[in-house]
Amino acid sequence: MSQIKIDKLVRSKRKTIALAVMADATLIVRAPMRTPLSYIHDLVAKKSPWIKKRKALANKLNNAYEPKEFVDGESFLYLGDTYKLQLSEQKEIKLTDRLIFPRADFLSRTDLSCAKETMIAWYRVQALKVISERVAHYSRMTGWEYKSVKISNAKKRWGSCSQSGTLNFSWRLIMAPPEIVDYLVVHELAHLKHHNHSAKFWSTVKVILPDYKERDRWLKENGRSLNL
Ligand SMILES: [Zn+2]
Repeated sequence: MSQIKIDKLVRSKRKTIALAVMADATLIVRAPMRTPLSYIHDLVAKKSPWIKKRKALANKLNNAYEPKEFVDGESFLYLGDTYKLQLSEQKEIKLTDRLIFPRADFLSRTDLSCAKETMIAWYRVQALKVISERVAHYSRMTGWEYKSVKISNAKKRWGSCSQSGTLNFSWRLIMAPPEIVDYLVVHELAHLKHHNHSAKFWSTVKVILPDYKERDRWLKENGRSLNL
């Protein structure tokens, strides 16, 4: 049986044990003062599938955070999955099991920003397609009516909702897993009802997504990796 290493064990007056996989893929265990170490190791062993999954995701996101050079084999995120870039003679970006990327842009790479702009333009198109569809889905489900969906270049704001009912989303969101995209969609739609982050707002979100807190935490912890 493969042992999972506990990187940090924090003892305190708490009453329960909590496992957390951090952004750097380390495992932190928080436990009550007197919990026997053997019990903690057993729990970690029992939870190992979950821990491994979280570690893999953290590593993947850390990889994705490296500045891009647009070379063969480099990893790019799309809806929470990584795709290896493959330079091609084609003129347009295409997503198969790889990210097919036009060589022409690569060759004129005295200017790397050109490749980056091409990539961002593609992300924006996909973001508009995917997010519009999800907004329409949740709007049908809830009956909340919006005016339009726009894709922004916002770096720190994942989304916003204007008084007139226009929903804005950062193109960077298209790199996140689908359940995170859905969370932001529901979050902004709920702002049509409550233009604030009041208790009423959060309970509205919770009706649609009971696990919204976990999704929100994921975004806070991993959001910085959703970038080029
Ligand atoms: Zn909000």
